[in-house]
Amino acid sequence: MIYTLDFMKPKETLWNTPHNNGNGSNNGHSNGHHHAHDEDAMEELGDHHVGMSVDTPLRDDAFLLDDDTKIDLIQSKFRDIMEILGLDLTDDSLKGTPKRVAKMYVKEIFSGLNPENKPEVRLFENKYDYHEMLVEKDITFFSNCEHHFVPIYGKAHVAYIPNGDVVGLSKLNRIVQYYARRPQVQERLTRQIAEELKTALGTEDVAVLIDANHMCVSSRGVQDTASSTVTAEYSGKFKNPETRAEFLRYINQ
Ligand SMILES: [Zn+2]
Repeated sequence: MIYTLDFMKPKETLWNTPHNNGNGSNNGHSNGHHHAHDEDAMEELGDHHVGMSVDTPLRDDAFLLDDDTKIDLIQSKFRDIMEILGLDLTDDSLKGTPKRVAKMYVKEIFSGLNPENKPEVRLFENKYDYHEMLVEKDITFFSNCEHHFVPIYGKAHVAYIPNGDVVGLSKLNRIVQYYARRPQVQERLTRQIAEELKTALGTEDVAVLIDANHMCVSSRGVQDTASSTVTAEYSGKFKNPETRAEFLRYINQ
């Protein structure tokens, strides 16, 4: 017996997705005839985190639906996934799960997809005349791997050298959290935070270093629980080895 998943048709948009009908009225199978070879290659790509651009790949219609509609749609799709797995959704412990997951996706762990949730960064005049490096280290973040939809979590360390203006310290933290709340790859997260800092602070002199654990590596696949992944982006004065070494000294002390 072959399951035809009516929500996996190609060229489907959010608009023509059947909502809550579950009557399987589609007229056949999707044409998803991938060769096994292609699927292996895709799996491999997901594990190696290549093929990444700095912008999160978003659809043109990403924000045409409001949050409540998205929650309703995701809820029904997630119920489908659970039922296909064989779970009994009439069970008291499980019946609320599709709604909980949908709300968590839209309002919490993927809320950083929506530009409306981007933190506003106000700059203050640099009254202290402080022109040395400012480091905000050990910013704890939780993100999710876009290849497996399981957590990436760790610490981000960010730094900048103020020119005219400074920023409230909590904003550095909020910028990290905003970009973390997306399906991510660590390399892109690192670059997105760096680009945002440059824009917000009006300087090229920024550094971002992220040290993170990937649940897709520790809980499945090679099941390596000891390793962590470090990525860094240095720009402006941080390209200078001495400046970079100073940054690294601060975060290692
Ligand atoms: Zn992954």
